[in-house]
Amino acid sequence: MSDRRCIFCGRLTELETDALFRLPPDHPRTNDPIYADFRKARGFTDLRSDLPGVCGSRSPECLKLDWENGRPVLITKTGRGTDTLICPSCHNELFRDTDSASVCSAVFFGAKDSGKTSLILALANSRIKEQFSPDGKYRYIFNDRLYSTEDIAAGAEKAASGEKPADLRSPAAVYRVPRAAEGGKPVCDVLHDVSAADTADEETLLTALPFAESAEHFVYCLPADKLAEAPGEGERPDILMRRDIFMMLGACRFAEKPPELDIALTRYDLADMSPETASERVFGVFPSIGELSGYFSGVKVYAVSAARPDLGGSLTDELYAGLFG
Ligand SMILES: [Zn+2]
Repeated sequence: MSDRRCIFCGRLTELETDALFRLPPDHPRTNDPIYADFRKARGFTDLRSDLPGVCGSRSPECLKLDWENGRPVLITKTGRGTDTLICPSCHNELFRDTDSASVCSAVFFGAKDSGKTSLILALANSRIKEQFSPDGKYRYIFNDRLYSTEDIAAGAEKAASGEKPADLRSPAAVYRVPRAAEGGKPVCDVLHDVSAADTADEETLLTALPFAESAEHFVYCLPADKLAEAPGEGERPDILMRRDIFMMLGACRFAEKPPELDIALTRYDLADMSPETASERVFGVFPSIGELSGYFSGVKVYAVSAARPDLGGSLTDELYAGLFG
């Protein structure tokens, strides 16, 4: 069986039985309400969806379904073929090399201004610039159907200079392609940006973050400079963190395997301490992390800086390797 996981909503589709296609461009363009609804839930402001219709093997426009090099192709009654697969749940494109074993995703969340988007931009931009993994095993290929490499570079530059970049409403995706000598097949690493509004209440969370259920990693972004702030008398500094993490747990309650919780100490360039000391202090200042660890498959702490991705011999590489290998 061949399947594909939608990197937008996380749904897994069996191509033999449920393949759905975007019709070729010679078909009339119309509003696609399912696609528009998904974009609305993800917080897109431009909701126009002027796209050719959707077609499956039982649709009236379908003449037949062929397979070419292991991929389904739909031939329409007008004699045109389309191999643009889309997700039955959200009508976004299904990309290649995204079968159930080939997608690894991480969801970045945290309080407002905790540096989530800046961190994703720094991680993605480093992969684009470096091209190969530090251990030489993989070549990175950025999926530029979602964002152009220029947009990512410009966003990363903005973040490095301290400006707040706009939220990334679509995921960023990077293919890790094994070098010939290594064998194996490509893996798609997916990075999801979660805004504070996405986790405002449980209902919003479930509609805005359908992908969280199949994510392997929840990355909680915590500004490192907060570690230096001493809490007031009788005040627990981690009440907000506890709320955020508990809220996110609701998104993965039906997951087969709980995700790993990764604490990313953002703005580490502003913390005057070693990564080891910072990691110890996290558990001291934010005891909730220890208390909540039973809900996750593991808890790890990483120090990172979007302003200086190369800090400490490249802490962003360390986080990327920790998340995706
Ligand atoms: Zn989908």
